[in-house]
Amino acid sequence: MVPLAGGSADPGKAMKWVNHVAIAGAVSAVWRPELVPVAVLGATAPDWLEWGLKLIGYRIKHRTVTHYVTSWAFGLFFGLVVWDWHHAIAAFCAGGLSHVFCDALTVQGVPLGWWSDRRFHLFGGRLRTGGLGEYFIAGGVVAACLGLALLTRHFDGGFSPFFFDWPQLYQDGLIDGAEWKKNRFRWL
Ligand SMILES: [Zn+2]
Repeated sequence: MVPLAGGSADPGKAMKWVNHVAIAGAVSAVWRPELVPVAVLGATAPDWLEWGLKLIGYRIKHRTVTHYVTSWAFGLFFGLVVWDWHHAIAAFCAGGLSHVFCDALTVQGVPLGWWSDRRFHLFGGRLRTGGLGEYFIAGGVVAACLGLALLTRHFDGGFSPFFFDWPQLYQDGLIDGAEWKKNRFRWL
């Protein structure tokens, strides 16, 4: 496999976990903050499930059974439509789906399902793993979620993990003016 451009990225390796986690964490933070841990667990699951299966003696090739696009999509569908427990299944599978979609951006791709030995690619699968591209994508998703949180936070009044609502706290008399002045530009 010849890299398309410079850089020392290894196309055989999975997308960096930090990016999987950033994407799933940011999306679920906007959707349902309490589900962030479950979504993050799901976003890394296709890889740690491989280790788990290996530990109990299954021989599996990297990015096969745990990386089927269809099984994660089915799980998400099941959680949303059939049965779920506090959205845990939906969040976990949405995380898993985001993982395989991100892996589908890379050269190696992911399988659509057990019947398919062809690899599924998104946008031509040009992304080199570990390259700058995946950071751009993760950064873009996080930025989009931040923007969404900014746009929506005045309307629902719920807790936003991105922003502590300092003016609101001030009005509620929970903090004094000096503290508000100090913190009003601090979002994270
Ligand atoms: Zn993976």
